[in-house]
Amino acid sequence: MSPAPDHDAVVIGAGFAGLYMVYRLRQDGFRVLGVEAGDGVGGTWYWNRYPGARCDSESMYYSFSFLPDLEQEWPLEERYPTQPVILRYLQTVAERLDLLKHFVFGARVTSVRFDDQAGHWTVRAGDQLAVTARYVITATGALSAANWPRFPGAGLFEGEQYSTASWPAEPVSLAGQRVGLIGTGSSGVQVLPELARQAQSVTVFQRTAQFVTPARQEPLDPRFVALWKANYQEIRRRTKFTPGGIPIPSPVRSSGELSAAERTALCEEAWRRGGIWFLDGTFSDAVTSQEANAIVAGFVRAKIGEIVTDPATAEKLKPWTHAWGTKRVPVGSDYYETYNRPNVSLVDLRQDPVEEITARGIRTRSGEHPLDVIVYATGFDALTGSIERLRIEGRNGERLEDAWASGPFTYLGLMIPRFPNLFTITGPGSPGVVTNVPVAIEQHVEWIADLLGYAREHGRETIEAEPGAAAEWTAHVQAVANMTLFPTADSWYMGANIPGKPRVFLPYIGGLDVYRHRCDEIAAGGYPGVALSGPAGGLVAVAAPAEVQGTAEAGHDFGLRDRGAGRPVPG
Ligand SMILES: Cc1cc2nc3c(=O)[nH]c(=O)nc-3n(C[C@H](O)[C@H](O)[C@H](O)COP(=O)(O)OP(=O)(O)OC[C@H]3O[C@@H](n4cnc5c(N)ncnc54)[C@H](O)[C@@H]3O)c2cc1C
Repeated sequence: MSPAPDHDAVVIGAGFAGLYMVYRLRQDGFRVLGVEAGDGVGGTWYWNRYPGARCDSESMYYSFSFLPDLEQEWPLEERYPTQPVILRYLQTVAERLDLLKHFVFGARVTSVRFDDQAGHWTVRAGDQLAVTARYVITATGALSAANWPRFPGAGLFEGEQYSTASWPAEPVSLAGQRVGLIGTGSSGVQVLPELARQAQSVTVFQRTAQFVTPARQEPLDPRFVALWKANYQEIRRRTKFTPGGIPIPSPVRSSGELSAAERTALCEEAWRRGGIWFLDGTFSDAVTSQEANAIVAGFVRAKIGEIVTDPATAEKLKPWTHAWGTKRVPVGSDYYETYNRPNVSLVDLRQDPVEEITARGIRTRSGEHPLDVIVYATGFDALTGSIERLRIEGRNGERLEDAWASGPFTYLGLMIPRFPNLFTITGPGSPGVVTNVPVAIEQHVEWIADLLGYAREHGRETIEAEPGAAAEWTAHVQAVANMTLFPTADSWYMGANIPGKPRVFLPYIGGLDVYRHRCDEIAAGGYPGVALSGPAGGLVAVAAPAEVQGTAEAGHDFGLRDRGAGRPVPG
C-alpha cells in the first residue's frame, strides 16, 4: 500500500482564491498546505504596487461576501480601492482567519507531478519544498504570469528597468528622470498619469491605441456607505446572480431601437458616470453588433479628439485596430488629459517600431529616445500562463502544455481530463476575468470544496473530468464567444499577446449567473461529467445528461443573445 500523502490538498497561491480555498477546505476538515511565491499574501495586490495601481471594480463589490463582520468594519472611502487598500484588506482577512500559519511563503512551485501508482501529486518548489497531496488546486491567478517582451538589447540598458507586475515595495524615485513607458493596456493607463507627475519626462511607446473609459474616482459619501452596509448581505446575494458579478442594471435596448439623439444622450450619461456604467451601460448589443459597436467606438474617438489638444497626438491615440470592448477596456484617471502635459510624448509603434534597446534608451525606426528608466506595462500570459508555468504532469507523465497544445481543454474551467484531482481557479474556460473576479472565485472555491466533500462522503478518492464533458464545455466556451465580436480582436482574451500561443478565446463569457446555474445543476445531479473512483479502484462515472451534452452544437445560447452576452466588465 502506498504511504498516505503529506496533505489532503495543496493550494498554490495566496491571493483572493488561495486564501478562500485554504480557509474553506480547513473548515471542511481537510489537511491543507498553501504555497505562495511571494513573501506575503495578496496575489495581484502584493505584486502590482506601481503608482496609480487600483481596481476598476468599485470598493463595495471588491471583497469577500462570507465575512459579514469584516464587511461592516471595513472602511469604504473611495469609489475604487487602491492597491495598498486591497493589500491591507487581504492581509486583514488572512490574520482574522488565522491562515498565515497554513502557508509556506517565498516558495515558487516549479513542478507538479501525478504519481499513477500512489494516486497522489508531488508538488515541488525548487529545492525548497517537496510535498505530496491527494488534491492540488491552482489559485495562481489569471493575470499573474507577467509577460516580458524580448526586445533586442534589453540587457544592455544602463538605466533602471521596472515591470508594473512586480513593482518594488519601497518607493521608486523618478524625480528628474526621463522615463520610457512600454505598454498602454490597463496597467499602462493607470501608471502613466503618476509617472508624468513625478518624472522629468515620459515617452509612451504605444503598440495599440485603447478605448479608455474615465474612472471618475471620488470619495464615497458616508451616508451612501451607511445605507450600503445596512443592506450589504442582500446586495451580495443579488450580486451572485448577475452576469458580471456587479449588480447594475444591464442595458435593455439595442442601438437600433434608439434615435441618434437618444444614443448620444445615453453614451454621454454613461461617460459622465464612468467605469462600469460606460462599460456595461450603453446598448444591449454593444459587443454583438458591428453597427452598435461602431457607435460606441465613434463616441470614444470623438471624446479623445475633444480632450487631447494636439491633433496629431489625438489621432495616434484613437483606436482603429479592434472593436470597442473586445480587448479589456482600461479604466483611467486623467489618461487622455495627461497627453496635454508638456513633459509627455507619444511614439506610435505601428508607424515607428522599436528596433532595439540601447545602453542609453530605446531606438525606434525614427531614432534613439534617451531614457534613464524603462517601465514595462506589457501585460500577462493570461489564464493559462500561471498554470502552465507550474510544469504539471498528469497520468502517465503527460505534460499539461502538450494536452493544451492547440488550446486549453477543461470541464467548466475547473478540471482537466487525465489530470485527476487537479482543480484550477479562474483558469481557461472560467468566467473569472470577465467578471468582478472575487465573486467568480467564491463560486469556484465553493463548488470545488463541495465536490471534494461529496467524494469523501462517497468513499471516493479520485476525481477526474471525463473527456466528453470537457469537449462539450470547451466547444461551448468557443461557441458563446463566437456570438460576439470578441474573437475578432488580437487580445489577451485570445492569447494574441503571447507569440506562439494558440489563438482561442480563453474565458467563458456566457455570464457568471448562467455558469453558476450550470455548476449547481451538475452538483445537484451527482456530478455528471466527473468520474469518481474509490480507493479500491471502483469507478463511478456518470455520463453528462442529454440537456448538458451538446449544447454548443445545438446552438443553445442560454438566452445570451437577449442578455447581451459577454459585455465587458472589470476583471
Ligand atoms: C493590475 C490589475 C488590475 C486588476 N483589476 C481588477 C478589477 O478591477 N476587478 C477585478 O475583478 N479584478 C481585477 N484584476 C484581476 C485580479 O487578478 C483578481 O481580481 C484577483 O486579485 C485574483 O486573485 P487570485 O487569487 O485568483 O490570483 P492572484 O491575485 O493573481 O494570486 C495568485 C498568486 O499565486 C501565486 N503564484 C503564481 N504562480 C505560482 C507558483 N508557481 N508558485 C507559487 N505561487 C504562485 C502568485 O505569486 C500570486 O500571489 C486585476 C488584475 C491586475 C493585475
